[in-house]
Amino acid sequence: MAASDPVPSINPAYELAPIEAGEWKGLMVQWTTEDGSLTAFLATEGLLFDILPGELRDHALMEMVLSDQRVVSSYAPEGATGLVRDFSEFGKASERYPISVRLMIDDAAVASWNRSFSSDIIAIAGLISLGLGYLGARGLTRPPTPLRQLDDALSRGYIHPVYQPLFCLSTGRMTGFEMLARWTKPDGSSISPAVFIPLAEDSGRIDRLTFALLDKAGAEIGDMLQRNETLKLSFNVTPDQLLGVGFVESLSSRIAKAGLNPRQLVIEITERQPISDFEAALRVSRELAKLGIRLAIDDAGTGHNGLSSLHALQAHYLKIDKYFVDGVALDRKSAVLVEALISLASQFGMEVVAEGIETEEQRIKLLDLGIQEGQGYLYAKPLPASDLIAKVEQGAQPMPKAA
Ligand code: C2E
Ligand code: CA
Ligand code: CA
Repeated sequence: MAASDPVPSINPAYELAPIEAGEWKGLMVQWTTEDGSLTAFLATEGLLFDILPGELRDHALMEMVLSDQRVVSSYAPEGATGLVRDFSEFGKASERYPISVRLMIDDAAVASWNRSFSSDIIAIAGLISLGLGYLGARGLTRPPTPLRQLDDALSRGYIHPVYQPLFCLSTGRMTGFEMLARWTKPDGSSISPAVFIPLAEDSGRIDRLTFALLDKAGAEIGDMLQRNETLKLSFNVTPDQLLGVGFVESLSSRIAKAGLNPRQLVIEITERQPISDFEAALRVSRELAKLGIRLAIDDAGTGHNGLSSLHALQAHYLKIDKYFVDGVALDRKSAVLVEALISLASQFGMEVVAEGIETEEQRIKLLDLGIQEGQGYLYAKPLPASDLIAKVEQGAQPMPKAA
């Protein structure tokens, strides 16, 4: 795809340039903000077709040109060569963008088109204005796509971390917390990570998102972590991200910049997504171990990787999914599965963490089965940094009494 020099608009943050890819022609719109730039490609060729009514369109040549006269798109009906002799030319420039539309219409077609107008010229100029407004509405001010909204949210810092405490099931003492992403819109409403995490993964923005969260975590809870060296900070990384080129180097420089101690960090790798290369995973896991960063297998028991991930990741923690915790106090089968996971973990020298603990019965049952550490609404929901810091400073939490 070839784009040429852009032309600024009245608002210089917006720049336009013609762009071509093979037969395809269109308009590149670049929007530069303090945090970077967004680029949109508009297929303007098809839009031009909509400017004029059908009767005139068949007798007109239309061009969209930038203020420096470069042609962005053009439209001509089939067999339009006869136009060259007797035609009138009309033009209209956008007030906000350095772009105009130029029309050459067959005189005979103009004359027979609508005789009730006193001046065809005025009518056509009006039409072109409408056409440009229409193009603007469809192109330049088109409602943002989810991806553009995500980029916008990332650059404006609308995506931020919350922290869900992990605790010792017998004493209630806090052992650390998991960082979870939240997208809070300016109106206060929020979008679930179940929606935007897959979008960030599929569009190649997940590293940017993870690193932005770590930067924020460093800024808001870095000092508290330094004062409480036994607390750990867990964060979620997808298997593809872990195996991405240069992940460990980028991560290590980001955590140094964020002022985080790698020995307090735990990376949770979900079992819900497959690990594409077990040997590479083992190499990455060893590099992380050298830095002092530990790994946890997240959503254990629900996944694709079966037992292979246990070997490939050499993880420190096995995190049992809420799905099994939900059933553990209710049905024997869930309890048997949890027991099997615990026994597997102990043979691999891993510690077990239970996630999604909501009731006192679950906590007691998990303790009975031999699990020492957990996370869930029973103890705390994900909290903003200020609430987390307050909770850490309050010290050990008394556990709720059994019902
Ligand atoms: P996850 O890693 O399994 O995180 C646990 C989820 O369970 C969180 O949902 C948490 O709020 C919720 N949860 C914890 N305790 C309880 C409980 O007692 N009851 C109930 N009903 N729910 C509980 P959340 O924050 O909506 O996150 C959903 C998923 O989104 C996470 O599941 C994780 O897979 C993904 N995610 C969140 N943040 C990130 C991120 O920064 N990067 C990546 N790659 N994934 C993320
Ligand atoms: Ca997790
Ligand atoms: Ca889970």
